[in-house]
Amino acid sequence: MISRIEQRCIEKGMKMTEQRRVIARVLSDATDHPDVEEVYRRATEIDSGISIATVYRTVRLFEEADILERHDFGDGRARYEEMPEEHHDHLIDTQSGKVIEFHNEEIENLQREIARRLGYRLIGHRLELYGTPLKSEDESETN
Ligand SMILES: [Zn+2]
Repeated sequence: MISRIEQRCIEKGMKMTEQRRVIARVLSDATDHPDVEEVYRRATEIDSGISIATVYRTVRLFEEADILERHDFGDGRARYEEMPEEHHDHLIDTQSGKVIEFHNEEIENLQREIARRLGYRLIGHRLELYGTPLKSEDESETN
């Protein structure tokens, strides 16, 4: 079975070695936003011969081909996810490191409107929210 990312690589005419195929599969299967160390850990479970340098090189290659999207969630480590078909933004739980994806049309429209007022057509944006979970007391205060 060819993974989605491998398929995109083939479409872009990229040469696929066995190790690149493994890394492509790991990234296709990821439902979180792993950093290179984590991709390396998962890839070596499939093929213990893969080196961290190969993972770095391959991830950069995929990123340059617009197959992967790179994120910086404030801890100084680059995170990766497959280039999403539909745009989404992220909320980062700074206690657990959990990343929640969301899409909000009001925010999207507001950003377009701000750009428009400044004389620009919006072609992209990055939005990361950082938060800690509401405790039940906090929730009852706001309700
Ligand atoms: Zn995401």
